[in-house]
Amino acid sequence: DIVELYELTIAEAHGLLKTGKISSRALTRSVLDRIAAVEPKVDAFLTILEKSALEEADAADRAVAAGACRPLTGIPLGIKDVVCTRGVRTTCGSRILENFVPPYDAFVIKRLKEQGAVIVGKLNMDEFAMGSSTENSGFKVTRNPWDTTCIPGGSSGGSAAALAAGMCLGALGSDTGGSVRQPASHCGVVGVKPTYGRVSRFGLIAYASSLDQIGPFGRSVADAALLLQAIAGHDPADSTCVPVAVPDYTAALSGNVKGLRIGIPREYSASQGLDPEVGAAVEAAVKRLESLGAERVEITLPHTRYAVAVYYVIAPCEASSNLARFDGVKYGLRSAEPGDLMQMYRRTRSQGFGAEVRRRIIIGTYCLSAGYYDAYYGKASQVRTLIVEDFKKAFEACDVIACPTAPTPAFRIGEKLDDPLTMYLSDIFTISANMAGIPALSLPCGFSGSGLPIGLQLMGTHFNEEMLFRVANAFEQATEFHTRRPAL
Ligand code: GLN
Repeated sequence: DIVELYELTIAEAHGLLKTGKISSRALTRSVLDRIAAVEPKVDAFLTILEKSALEEADAADRAVAAGACRPLTGIPLGIKDVVCTRGVRTTCGSRILENFVPPYDAFVIKRLKEQGAVIVGKLNMDEFAMGSSTENSGFKVTRNPWDTTCIPGGSSGGSAAALAAGMCLGALGSDTGGSVRQPASHCGVVGVKPTYGRVSRFGLIAYASSLDQIGPFGRSVADAALLLQAIAGHDPADSTCVPVAVPDYTAALSGNVKGLRIGIPREYSASQGLDPEVGAAVEAAVKRLESLGAERVEITLPHTRYAVAVYYVIAPCEASSNLARFDGVKYGLRSAEPGDLMQMYRRTRSQGFGAEVRRRIIIGTYCLSAGYYDAYYGKASQVRTLIVEDFKKAFEACDVIACPTAPTPAFRIGEKLDDPLTMYLSDIFTISANMAGIPALSLPCGFSGSGLPIGLQLMGTHFNEEMLFRVANAFEQATEFHTRRPAL
């Protein structure tokens, strides 16, 4: 028995909208009231779109009345501020884009609007998606709804926190090294990094182009599947978006796990820094899958120990190249005292970018410079190929890989701020999937002694998100973790 409309899953809300039991206006109003009540505690939003959201809700109600109620029609959603929204400020969490208003919608936004979804706001993030805690935002720190002294994860921390707190029914984020899955894990929601090439990046502000993917957050596996269904598919405007058919993800949810082989990477459970509570929750989850008929097989990913090191060469290299466009000429901030051209570049970029972004630009520029390119970017790319080969071999022995999403539950705000290396290790289990381009999903699988959510990560073969949804849904159906809500 639902108390408030904002607590509904997308699938539940759709059922009620379609049969006229609720209106999108009432649903959107409930979400906006929830934002007014709890946003001061969570700080997930950079822009709240009250007026346009209510207009979109009314348009959705007219569409429903006309018999056109699609799965996302009238559903209030939040969008990570890395995705361009026409006429709506898109900051990428950076002062350098504080006043940037895109003249176009990202492909994924066009898809959501075509369905009549309601966009309630733009969500906080680590600047240019660089971070694991949302503390690197140029604007504010988002807090974890389960414990507001803790980080929500990152870089899509605003998306995960807003969803967990009931301030939207679903959200989009981006994942370059774990930025959808890790905050999903810390906030107790489902997050998906689709296969590289599954979702168009047209209108996604680029971080590391060989790794970036847009991915959905849902309060259930079914909701994440509905959102991916809406945004997946070929787009000629993104040359890396692969023209393969998009299956019916909701149909994939009806499958069970009998006879499926679940691969457990030997290296991950022995990983240093794995919190015992996380290890225990993941082990219990695998046992649960076994009790549902899955078979456990041990696999090995021998090059996985290099993944973080390789990532912190490849991602900064690509970032240094992508972020060269923010020079004070065409986009965003220009220093108030520009001086000559070189001074204008230097002052604009020094003032506009935060410390972590500057650190990565410096590392990337160094690694790409003449004489170092082969030793760093070239070498990292070779090791990346070995990581790809590891997964190829592993998937000969199993259908899906299961492991922790993050090594620990959410940590305290400020705890890792002066130690970038420890922060980088937050993504030790998520980065490999980006390296290999394979799809991966995080879903709630337990709680720590202090009441913080723990996530189980599932990884699959290229373009087989269906397998992840099938296994995740079977687990979700057999457990209660996804039904708990933070007491805000
Ligand atoms: N935490 C990683 C980084 O800082 C991953 C971020 C992401 O996936 N966008 O780069």
